[in-house]
Order: sequence, then C-alpha cells, then structure tokens
Amino acid sequence: MATKRDYYEVLGVNKNATDDEIKKAYRKLAKKYHPDANPDNKEEAEAKFKEVNEAYENLSDPQKRKMYDQFGANGPQGGFGQGGPFGNGGYYSYSSSGFDGFSDFGDLGDIFSTFFGGGFGGRRNSTRKNGPVKGADLNVRMEITFEQAFMGVEKEIVITRDEECSHCHGTGAKPGTSPIKCPTCNGTGQVTQVQNTILGQMQTTRTCSACHGTGEIINNPCENCNGKGTIRKQPKIKVKIPAGIDDNQTVVLRGEGEPGKKGGPKGDLYITVKVKKHSVFTRKGNNVLCEIPITITQASLGAELEIPMVDGSKEKYKIPEGTQTGSKFNIRNKGFKSVSSNSVGDFIFTVIVQTPKRLSKEQRELLTQLAKTMNEQPPVKKRGLFG
Ligand SMILES: [Zn+2]
Ligand SMILES: [Zn+2]
Repeated sequence: MATKRDYYEVLGVNKNATDDEIKKAYRKLAKKYHPDANPDNKEEAEAKFKEVNEAYENLSDPQKRKMYDQFGANGPQGGFGQGGPFGNGGYYSYSSSGFDGFSDFGDLGDIFSTFFGGGFGGRRNSTRKNGPVKGADLNVRMEITFEQAFMGVEKEIVITRDEECSHCHGTGAKPGTSPIKCPTCNGTGQVTQVQNTILGQMQTTRTCSACHGTGEIINNPCENCNGKGTIRKQPKIKVKIPAGIDDNQTVVLRGEGEPGKKGGPKGDLYITVKVKKHSVFTRKGNNVLCEIPITITQASLGAELEIPMVDGSKEKYKIPEGTQTGSKFNIRNKGFKSVSSNSVGDFIFTVIVQTPKRLSKEQRELLTQLAKTMNEQPPVKKRGLFG
C-alpha cells in the first residue's frame, strides 16, 4: 500500500476546518467518487472513495480528530502499540492486557451489519441487540508537573468502574446455578408480532419485557452483585505518560474502561493530561524558553554561564562580550521530545541584564572611573535604544 495521504489533504480542507466544512467536503467527494457514478474507471474511483471515507471517519469524530492532530496517522514512536489488526487510526494507545485491536470488535459488528444488511432480516436486529457489546469508555484528567511532561512519568490513578463480579464470574446467577434462556423470546431479547391488516401482514418487533432484552432470566441471583454480574470498584491503574506530552493531550489505555456485555470487549480509558505551569520554564511547541539574569560585567565582558536544564542538569554556555539584554541563545536538542516523531526541540534562553541596585564603596568608585572613560549617554538610534 502506498503511503497514506494526510486526511485533511484527502478532503481538501485545512487543519482548522469546522465540522461543517469537513462534512460538506466529504459529501461532495463521496458523491464524486462513488463507484456507481464512475462506471468507466470503477477501480480508481473505489480506491478514492475508500480514502475519502477513511479520512472522514477520522476527522468527523472529535476524539479521533484530536488524536490524529496530535500523533498523526502513524501513531507514536517507541514502545507503544499501534492498534491491532484492524488499525485504529493512529491512536496513541497501549493495552495492559497486551491484546490490542480486539477493542474494535464492536465496530466490526457494525461493519458486518452493513455488509449483510437486510439479508438476515430480524435476526440481524436480535444479534446486534443481544450480541457482544463493547464496554463504555472512561475519561479522566491527570495533573502532572512541567518536569514530568519533559521526562515522562509513570503514575498511579484511582478510577471508578464496574468490574466482573468474582463470585458469579459475571453471570449474575448464584454460583452453582446459571441463567436460563428466556422462554418468552427464546433468548433473542425481542418479540415479533405478526398482525393482519388491510395492507397485508405487518410484522412488529419490540424488546422482550420478560428479560428486558437480555435474552436470559436469572432465577437465583448472585448475592454478591444482586444479579448484575458486576461490582463497582475503584482500582488503581498504572499510567505511563510519555516524555514530551503537552498540556491537554490524551493517553489511551485500551481495555481499561467499563466491562463489555455478553463477552464484548472492555471499553478504553482516556487520560487527558494537564501540565502545571513552571516558575522558570515555559514551553512553545517543543522548545523550552527561559530567562537568565546576568550582571552588567558579564554582559560587557562576556562570560561562561551555567544554564539550568529542565531535567535538573546544568549546561555551560559562553555568551560573547557585548551581549545585550534581551538577546536569545539557543542550546540545540535540549527541549521537549516530540511524541509523534523523533525530533527534539531546543532550549532557548533570553538574557536579562540586571542593573545593580546596591553598590559597595569599591564598586561605586570603579564604576565612576569607568563612567569617566565613556560618553555620558549613548546616541539614540532609530531602531531602539540598544541598537
Ligand atoms: Zn455476582
Ligand atoms: Zn426475553
């Protein structure tokens, strides 16, 4: 397969496009490339049609779009999973169970129902209602320090979610007993009624009231979970935050959400990171910015400075003589690691020349002597006081 084109490029919209613009662009292109509308070059149209659909699928879902903007289609570098056999559109994810991809099972059910739509009639409905359902996703926020965002961190969080009842292993039935197939709907969860009307036979389907659509009846409910099959728990979850993560970015833990139903996969856990402000450093893109105060003599004569890095180390840096206040210096590759590529930002510091406020007697004399050798006031230049 050729390298993937940028989803925005595929739809011909810019990165700031609104949902509405994306929808419009998609509709236009889907119409244009629909295989039925291109009988002469069906194959090419179909390929384009698929590409357009994939782009739309990812950009129309706010969560997926955010992920795509953050990490691109290829996902993150390093030891994190990149989706399973069905791909996941570049989600930044890893699975604690090591079984990624299964979480797309729920979507696959939809694909099947689209493929075989209609052909199975009522059975399709009952299968979907009663078949495996993926558990709900959970969203939490986590606050980390600037340094933790820089170096990466492993944290433990406590979340609240349902977990399978260990007493009945999720069946909801008292140990030693099992749920029975609902006799009213024969386990389908739905009842179909056929009525004779003047238009012919009409078939209506509704949820079975005896089992509330589950297809099962529990005669002896489990005492531990009252027949629910799940228990509310507050497990501690280990979360690995990668180095370089920025404020408001999200880490996904596959399979750490709510449990699925009827053997469906667990939902996912989305952790959105809030990075605390730092008193010394700020971040711009992947660069670290900071202000370094220097004395008038260091500025005038040049000096070797010790610059504090975000990881706690120090870098030596020689500034030249005649350094002006506000000058910027760049220490390459000492900024943030990118979470989506191998690039590393720079450390950029701005020197601020400090005018001494309190002088010793000796310093005052020396400065007075110096003053005699210099003009009283430098000429005012058009481009600013310090030229
Ligand atoms: Zn139970
Ligand atoms: Zn029933």
